[in-house]
Amino acid sequence: RAKLDGRNTFKFFTPEMQAQSVRALQLENALRRALERNQFHLHYQPQMSLTNGSVRSVEALLRWQHPQLGAVSPAEFIPIAEDSGQILQIGEWVLRTALSQLKTWRTNGFPHLTMAVNLSAIQFRQPQLPELVSRMLAEFGLPPDSLELELTEGVAVDDPHAAVATMDQLHARGVRMSMDDFGTGYSSLSQLKRFQIFKLKIDQSFVRDLGDDGNDRAIVSAIIRMAQALGMRTTAEGVETEGQLAYLREQGCDEAQGYHFSMPLSAPELEAFMRRQLH
Ligand code: C2E
Ligand code: MG
Ligand code: MG
Ligand code: MG
Repeated sequence: RAKLDGRNTFKFFTPEMQAQSVRALQLENALRRALERNQFHLHYQPQMSLTNGSVRSVEALLRWQHPQLGAVSPAEFIPIAEDSGQILQIGEWVLRTALSQLKTWRTNGFPHLTMAVNLSAIQFRQPQLPELVSRMLAEFGLPPDSLELELTEGVAVDDPHAAVATMDQLHARGVRMSMDDFGTGYSSLSQLKRFQIFKLKIDQSFVRDLGDDGNDRAIVSAIIRMAQALGMRTTAEGVETEGQLAYLREQGCDEAQGYHFSMPLSAPELEAFMRRQLH
């Protein structure tokens, strides 16, 4: 097969590209049955308060275990589910499962815990999203501010006005929004100031080299200061070392998440982690 690109030159699929598209088709087909065959589950990673050391919130991270393909990373299958439209059903399952788990934890010793759920830009663009979210919160008897929807800057790429309108609606319903992977996307600061964003999540690519990269230290410090000026909280992602943590604390970052505290865990493991934190 040959494909004509914009400059009228033929480009042929290399064997590697061929293998990639075979894999993508295979995953897309397998994804179709994944929900009904109970192949999805959620892991949870704690977001630690840097002011009092408690688990303030947990992030739900989707896991797919396929009998033949094994564990497939969300970084690989989410884009495929987005292209095929399956992300809508999958995303609804994630939201329901995460809220059900949150309800259990809130009624069993963790009354102030909040749940962070990642949302695809495709889900975010559904006109029914705000209604769906409110209905599900009501279904579980959870207050709207117990949920944080993690968005990426990609939600505003095509239609910034529509994105602002959806954020306004969610905000009016009391739901919190976080900007995930902040600093890696294309949104402008003039857009950011119009977003109803509760918290900026500083991308792990800036956190990774905090120890020896002066530019990354400057960027992280600037993000924290900007967020403070805009009345937003900050969470650092991918915190793996004591040194990174010390710098973030010194700069006034509110929360941190990463292997230094905990990997993403199954629900019983995360519950055990939270109980240990209480003592
Ligand atoms: P994300 O939302 O930015 O999640 C953070 C990723 O960093 C997770 O990868 C997490 O396991 C990993 N991580 C956490 N702490 C550390 C650390 O200290 N060091 C390093 N190197 N990595 C760390 P994961 O679980 O593979 O998820 C990858 C991405 O897939 C997520 O990035 C998110 O964009 C997407 N994703 C996961 N679950 C869902 C979901 O339910 N819906 C949607 N739409 N996307 C999801
Ligand atoms: Mg996230
Ligand atoms: Mg992230
Ligand atoms: Mg990410």
